[in-house]
Amino acid sequence: MYQSFIGLEVHIHLLTKTKVFCGCKQNFGDGPNTNVCPVCLGYPGVLPALNVEAMRMGCTVARALGCTIPPKTWFDRKQYFYPDMTKNYQISQFHQPLGQDGLVTIEGRGIQKTVRIKECHLEEDAGKMIHAGTASLLDYNRAGYALLEIVTEPDMESGEEAELFIRQLRRTVRYLGVCDGNMEEGSLRADANVSINTPGAGLGRKVEIKNLNSSRFVKLGLNYEIKRQAGLLDEGKMVVQETRLWNENRDQTEPMRTKENAQDYRYFPEPDLPVFVPDAAFLRRVEEGVCELPLARVKRFIAEYGLGEENADALCDEKAFADYYEDAVVKALAEGLAKPEAAAKVANLLLGDVKHILAKAGADPATIGDTKLTPARLASLVVMTAQGAVSAKNAKQVLAAVFDEDKDPPAIIKERGWEQMTDPAQIGEAVDGVLAAEAATLADARSAKAAGNEKRAKTLTAYLAGKVIAATGGRADPGVVGRLLGERV
Ligand code: ADP
Ligand code: MG
Ligand code: ZN
Repeated sequence: MYQSFIGLEVHIHLLTKTKVFCGCKQNFGDGPNTNVCPVCLGYPGVLPALNVEAMRMGCTVARALGCTIPPKTWFDRKQYFYPDMTKNYQISQFHQPLGQDGLVTIEGRGIQKTVRIKECHLEEDAGKMIHAGTASLLDYNRAGYALLEIVTEPDMESGEEAELFIRQLRRTVRYLGVCDGNMEEGSLRADANVSINTPGAGLGRKVEIKNLNSSRFVKLGLNYEIKRQAGLLDEGKMVVQETRLWNENRDQTEPMRTKENAQDYRYFPEPDLPVFVPDAAFLRRVEEGVCELPLARVKRFIAEYGLGEENADALCDEKAFADYYEDAVVKALAEGLAKPEAAAKVANLLLGDVKHILAKAGADPATIGDTKLTPARLASLVVMTAQGAVSAKNAKQVLAAVFDEDKDPPAIIKERGWEQMTDPAQIGEAVDGVLAAEAATLADARSAKAAGNEKRAKTLTAYLAGKVIAATGGRADPGVVGRLLGERV
């Protein structure tokens, strides 16, 4: 057995309106080379100007990850030649990143682990190169996008841990409102570094898997690489320090380039940008941006609402969804429901029927606040169902009607005559009607009961109950129907 070491470098696009060093729009999907100017195209003689909002967002992420913000921070030039970066250097941070020495606990799926954050630094993204046949096309819209790089220490040990780290980080930056976390569009990308060694011998020779655009590929790529490296060591071979790519069609990593000695980027402080000294007002805005983080919220939901881990986790996936949940619970409490009941019932309805309706409409769960189902309406439906004013079956239809018709549940229930029927005399009439029409089934059920064939008697009674409920337009209380049928069969 070997010990494995995994360190991640995660890049996130910050949700600033404009690029990090010029006024061009940041907007994924715009026509090629439409959001460009002399600064982000790297014309000679132009001057960059820092987008302070990008710095604020970057520092907010750093603080959320437990990093320290230094008294001053600045930018450095990283020299390299590649057509996606026309200046032939990238403005990045090297000597003094905006945040350092953080600590993050990842938790869930049976994993609990503390991961040290080495640093967070702000930089500009490069343009996008598209290879089409024999030609290479360049789109510089992305050049100059505000990019935050988060670098961990090599504290993770498995693909599963790294996947959880990415998932939790993705949730965190979405909660903070600084990144949309869209991995397919490249708003969040990861490079995964991994080495193995005999236990106690420290770090091994690392391989870097570049540009992973899904948390699942992070897991698969790393687990593949750990196995591959173990195979090499087993055979007495050495791992080559190199950069590899995950080939999703062949489920394997493949060499991209070898990195024998670290490339010399000749970093030096960027002379065109002043040193950034965060003042008290800036730091206050940074701290104000750090909301309750997803993991803390999941734990609070478990403790405060008595939810299971799975439900708490699902509710907290999106901040807007979790906010909505809490709002609806408060409203259900105000209508007189006890807390454990309100918490459980609102959770079940939201995670079940409501999510289903949203998914069918192709709507993001985070947009639930924009639908006609306000937290108050959801709460009133939950309360009416709990009090037996409407059957669970009809409640589902009320829900669909609220989305379509923009009306309050009590109004819909009244309009359609969906108030639950609980009066035994009234239900008794329906029962008698059904039993008269289903005489053969009734006889069958009775003889099954007499013969001690419980199972068959039950099946037939359930069939009759269904008929009675249908005969009342779904309004009859199933409990009362069951009791009355029990007396008659
Ligand atoms: P480089 O200079 O090659 O970019 P860094 O020291 O900046 O290397 O580290 C980059 C990432 O690689 C970090 O996430 C770090 O935790 C990880 N890393 C560094 N050395 C190793 C190693 N031997 N095994 C696994 N991960 C490593
Ligand atoms: Mg590095
Ligand atoms: Zn520009």
